[in-house]
Amino acid sequence: MKALLIGESRDGSFLEYGYELVGFAERIGAETAMVMVGQEKSLPGYGGKLYLADAATYGEYNPDLHKKLILAAVEREKPDLVVFSHSSYGWDLAPRVAAGLKAAQLSEVIGTTGDGYELPSCSQKMRRSVKPATPVVVLTLQLGAFPAVTGGGTPQVERVETEGSGKVIFVRYEAAEAKGIDLAKAEVIVSAGRGIGKADNVPVIAALAKALGGQLGASRPVVDSGWVEHSHQVGTTGQTVSPKLYVACGISGAIQHLAGMKKSGFIVAINKDKDAPIGEVADVLVVADVMQFVPALTAKLAK
Ligand SMILES: Cc1cc2nc3c(=O)[nH]c(=O)nc-3n(C[C@H](O)[C@H](O)[C@H](O)COP(=O)(O)OP(=O)(O)OC[C@H]3O[C@@H](n4cnc5c(N)ncnc54)[C@H](O)[C@@H]3O)c2cc1C
Repeated sequence: MKALLIGESRDGSFLEYGYELVGFAERIGAETAMVMVGQEKSLPGYGGKLYLADAATYGEYNPDLHKKLILAAVEREKPDLVVFSHSSYGWDLAPRVAAGLKAAQLSEVIGTTGDGYELPSCSQKMRRSVKPATPVVVLTLQLGAFPAVTGGGTPQVERVETEGSGKVIFVRYEAAEAKGIDLAKAEVIVSAGRGIGKADNVPVIAALAKALGGQLGASRPVVDSGWVEHSHQVGTTGQTVSPKLYVACGISGAIQHLAGMKKSGFIVAINKDKDAPIGEVADVLVVADVMQFVPALTAKLAK
């Protein structure tokens, strides 16, 4: 089994989630090569063959040209799998590459089965196992679903080139306007999940955050319900955090939430369900009703 991994570069730097592609390949025991439109001065710590196209020539993004560059690398490597991150780059490019190869394309892979892949379904409440039937398969991997494997040495660079200009002109990436709080700097975060029940209970969680000298975080449903402002959201569509202490209150541990906080130093989860998936990453799982446990803990800390 051979996998062609699609690395990404932004502002001249390799994007670290690309190392999760290496972790995925290791898990399935695949041989790898990588392709990236980037710069020679910022190569990934990856010891395999790297097909490098110059971002100065082909742009940081250009769907038509990047597709052609990847297909050129596919032609040379003849992989069984072409593997993207489930990033905006991967969302846009993977289907184009799959169409070019007449290959099955699976988005948001979160796991592997013996001969197939696991994808989320029913708003992440269930998983479905899918076994693609084409000889070549194009995948996007959900961020955080596979371990990042770094430090694999220096790649053997081979240049890849193409011609033309492409029908879509990429203008630029624009950073989202910074507003609200920057959770990335917090040493302690106490996050509220749907399990807190209602907006009126948010101050109870915020009080524990304050007692611990930390910030309030939240899962996406809490933000979507309007209980907490979006700048507090942790996860793939919120902030990525790595505080010394992360306390998850009534949070189940969906992959999109874990991707944003699983690098925290010490994780405490409070959940009434002893089998909640958050237990897999938590250092301590307190099985309790969050609205009983949290006020009692805050009161103890105040003494
Ligand atoms: C493209 C995409 C992007 C996403 N991005 C994000 C993201 O950035 N961040 C994010 O968080 N989610 C994100 N999600 C949503 C994610 O899939 C989950 O739906 C979400 O994380 C679940 O939030 P939750 O754990 O608060 O709620 P639930 O999954 O409903 O879990 C609630 C938990 O609370 C527990 N509970 C209930 N009552 C109590 C009680 N009284 N005491 C103690 N425990 C209790 C339950 O046992 C359960 O484990 C995204 C989804 C998609 C499709």
